[in-house]
Amino acid sequence: VAELSYEEESSPAYGEQAAQTWTYAYVPASQPDHIDFSGPCPKCVHASAYHWPLSLVREDFLALQETTKLVQLEDAPAPQSESVLVRCQCSVSHPGNSGEKGCGRYWTLLVAGQ
Ligand SMILES: [Zn+2]
Ligand SMILES: [Zn+2]
Repeated sequence: VAELSYEEESSPAYGEQAAQTWTYAYVPASQPDHIDFSGPCPKCVHASAYHWPLSLVREDFLALQETTKLVQLEDAPAPQSESVLVRCQCSVSHPGNSGEKGCGRYWTLLVAGQ
């Protein structure tokens, strides 16, 4: 669907569809600093991938511990599943994309905590 116009929009249906078809992995597995998502875009159907850096989350977490001093890092509770905003990053140039990658659609995926 290369003729599909670039448009920044979302729909719960995109997220539901992506949840069935997309995969993700914490990378590197030993000490992850990002999550790699990949799968077909629910709208334009092109192969797409998304890179989600964990560093911001982690720094916030450490800053919180710094101020609370409640627990050692080892005793920290496992992070709960979190929702990640994924954008279509397909390599096809959609009309009206103004240099942006993908078709502009975005959706939310739920990932299990590491
Ligand atoms: Zn596309
Ligand atoms: Zn797309």
